Amino acid sequence: MHLKKPRLMTPGPTPIHPAALQAMLGAEIHHRTQDFRNLYLSVLADLKTVLGTANDVLVLTASGTGAMEASITNCFSPGDKVIVCTAGKFGERWVELAHAYGLEVNVLQAPYGQAVAPHQLEIALSQNPDAKGVFVQASESSTGAVHDVHAMGELVKLTDALFIVDAITGVGTMPLEIDPWGLDIVIGGSQKALMIPPGLAFVSISPKAWARMQTARLPRYYFDLLREKKNAAKGESSWTPATSLILGLAEVLKYVKTLSMQRLIENAQHLAAATRVAAKALNLELFAPDCPSAAVTSIRAPAGLDSGVIVKEFRQRFGSVIANGQGEMQGQIFRIAHLGYFDFPDLFALIAELELILEGQGALVPLGAGVRAVQEYYAGIALPEKNPAPAHV
Ligand SMILES: *Cc1c(COP(=O)(O)O)cnc(C)c1O
Repeated sequence: MHLKKPRLMTPGPTPIHPAALQAMLGAEIHHRTQDFRNLYLSVLADLKTVLGTANDVLVLTASGTGAMEASITNCFSPGDKVIVCTAGKFGERWVELAHAYGLEVNVLQAPYGQAVAPHQLEIALSQNPDAKGVFVQASESSTGAVHDVHAMGELVKLTDALFIVDAITGVGTMPLEIDPWGLDIVIGGSQKALMIPPGLAFVSISPKAWARMQTARLPRYYFDLLREKKNAAKGESSWTPATSLILGLAEVLKYVKTLSMQRLIENAQHLAAATRVAAKALNLELFAPDCPSAAVTSIRAPAGLDSGVIVKEFRQRFGSVIANGQGEMQGQIFRIAHLGYFDFPDLFALIAELELILEGQGALVPLGAGVRAVQEYYAGIALPEKNPAPAHV
């Protein structure tokens, strides 16, 4: 008999930062008090710092999709033409949302595991000079691919369209220079690299987007960003916020400020790179080799093996929760997360588990080859580091 510790290794929800977990227990706080207003104002200010933007940042009590919906209802009018760059399940969510609100949608689609190229967008923008918005995922969590939002932003900047970026797994895993790149709306979610449970979404909003909101006519009520902005200035949210999550978020933002956003990003990028090296050492095929995300690495199951079996074995044999593929990718790929509160020991364990599982399924993997690859990667980057990351609390 052996113990199994639960380990959450999915691209959302992710492991919770210990200081945040503790802070969330203090949730007996009323949101219309000066104490809470002070906390809320400091959270909003810290979010701006951590995201590195001069744009307004608002917090919504909703999962990430709520903020995606808000960006549509607040910025567009019925029948507006928009361009959606989609490379996976979350891109398809943009298409569905835009259709649900009666927008005229031009879809630029990349096959799963690839990304929409900036030059495709350049052509679409020149063919649709009346486009009012461009939507994309910075990191497409369903496939583990990233988009070049910098190059895309430079193109959209030259037009009247708003550039709306689902960065829910992009924040904290890739550089996002919101202001210089012209990212008009950037959306984040609490349960990804920000290390707290699901229930909060963040939206940064550029002056160009605020100007659009003055004339946008789609109906909205709960997610009314102009009203939210007015309230946020006073340290209030329009409705009862998820107070416990705000308490947790305040702690995480302190942590990320101490660590620096850049190092949080580097951490995810190193873990992702080490995972790719391990996959290679185990003769496993990457699903998005050309544009890999640092938020999550998608790996194809060996031929003849359902990835659902691998996912199930992780849970049953070790208590580890990893992600299967979504939609058509279910059964084909499994996904290993790196965003937020993950470290190298997590990855050593995970790759060791993977090797045992594959061996148990009869795949010809040399035990230890993947772990060794991760160890060697670690040795290569850790030794030169002069200022190691502070311990977590
Ligand atoms: C998690 C995620 C979302 C939001 O999903 P919710 O379940 O609403 O939080 C959106 N886009 C991407 C890329 C995501 O990873």
